[in-house]
Amino acid sequence: MSQPRIVIVGGGFGGLAAAKALKKTPAEVTLIDRTNHHLFQPLLYQVATSVLSPNQIGFPIRGIFKNQRNTTVILGEVTGVDRDNKCIFVSDKDRLDVPLSYDYLVLATGATHSYFGQNEFEEFAPGLKSLADAEETRNKILQAFELAEAEEDPSRHRDLLTFVLVGAGPTGVEMAGALAVLVKTTLKSNFRRIDPASARVVLVDRSPRVLGTFSEQLSQAAKQRLENLGVEVRLGHGVDQIDADGVVVAGERIASKTVIWTAGVAPSPAGKWLRVETDHAGRVRVQDDLTVPGHPEIFVIGDTAAFQQDGKPLPGVAQVAMQQGRYAGKLIHTRITDSKQPAPFRYFDKGTMAVVGKGFAVLQSGKVQMSGLGAWLVWAFVHLQFLATSGLRLSVFLQWIWTFVTGQRGSRLIVNHHTSTPVSTAVSEPARGAA
Ligand SMILES: Cc1cc2nc3c(=O)[nH]c(=O)nc-3n(C[C@H](O)[C@H](O)[C@H](O)COP(=O)(O)OP(=O)(O)OC[C@H]3O[C@@H](n4cnc5c(N)ncnc54)[C@H](O)[C@@H]3O)c2cc1C
Repeated sequence: MSQPRIVIVGGGFGGLAAAKALKKTPAEVTLIDRTNHHLFQPLLYQVATSVLSPNQIGFPIRGIFKNQRNTTVILGEVTGVDRDNKCIFVSDKDRLDVPLSYDYLVLATGATHSYFGQNEFEEFAPGLKSLADAEETRNKILQAFELAEAEEDPSRHRDLLTFVLVGAGPTGVEMAGALAVLVKTTLKSNFRRIDPASARVVLVDRSPRVLGTFSEQLSQAAKQRLENLGVEVRLGHGVDQIDADGVVVAGERIASKTVIWTAGVAPSPAGKWLRVETDHAGRVRVQDDLTVPGHPEIFVIGDTAAFQQDGKPLPGVAQVAMQQGRYAGKLIHTRITDSKQPAPFRYFDKGTMAVVGKGFAVLQSGKVQMSGLGAWLVWAFVHLQFLATSGLRLSVFLQWIWTFVTGQRGSRLIVNHHTSTPVSTAVSEPARGAA
């Protein structure tokens, strides 16, 4: 008799954990992702600010499963699900919407940026979700310093060297801190006409405090630390406008050539594929065993699922995705092997952390609250542990020590993947005048 087919869509934190939990299951496991790598998103900001290079936070999914014989990895984009005929549709460079049938389906397709309905902002304020985004942001930041160094008119340095981050959650705070350190340490003494330390880093959020999910005390500590690093923290007003000349906040224009979106996220379209109930954000409402109502063979996990625990939705963090992935894998295993099924899913919150510049983090775990170097050491230890392979752990560990001691960073290359706009059109005279 043929073995049951388990299809997992997404090789992020949730999908990877589910596939690993199925290692000993007598089944054909197929893991599909539209990229060939698992990405450690919590360190994306370090690629964007040149601390790490892309290959230090991404690892080929195929390599992770090289010894798991029951698992096949496919590079492809899932475009839909046919619940009734139990199949999904997969496209790749060669073929469109190829059906692939399943007995069990795990959707772990994560989230993408959300511009809260103002999608026109995207052109001027790219977000940070993939390695390509991080490289693009790094290019933009480094390019701004190059343009300022080449620009003889000092009145243009101000907007070239103003960096605006929209969204003061963990990503915005971590990016702002890392940028502030970059301009004060690594870039110091690299330029002749400009002083990189004069760069302005502005962090904007409409909420009244940074790191809104942390306690008031830690949020205050993070804000204080950012200000000590020279970051301008502008709270209580969102951005009204983002365009090629910068942003408008509470009626005031902040001229900037580098605006980075570090605010909302939106779930993948899994809810639309399945045509099931979603929450207001579009996340699929799942039952206490992470399956979709009426479909015990379909699991939705991680950022794309809405799971209520003690009356509150679980946050979109890596720990939730990993624990849900492990649970879904284990439950499928028990069903296939007719063994004892686990109790309903329950998330165990190990705590949250955010880094604010060099050697400083805030940490909240139950009643424990810490800020400073101790919290940063815990942060570093935990993040190293969760990197995909021991090779990455060693490489990132050594890079961090090197950067900590010398201020030097892993990758300060400007790598343009597309033909750049000719300089003559990029800085035409009328544009100059307007600026
Ligand atoms: C910049 C940033 C910083 C973060 N920092 C932290 C942090 O410090 N701590 C923390 O706990 N969490 C952090 N998070 C959140 C955390 O990364 C997510 O909660 C976690 O990745 C969710 O896991 P997931 O498996 O649901 O989705 P993901 O890890 O996003 O994986 C989804 C996978 O699905 C694939 N995929 C999507 N759609 C398709 C499709 N149609 N076909 C095929 N494949 C598809 C994607 O390529 C991806 O590999 C951060 C996120 C970002 C963006």
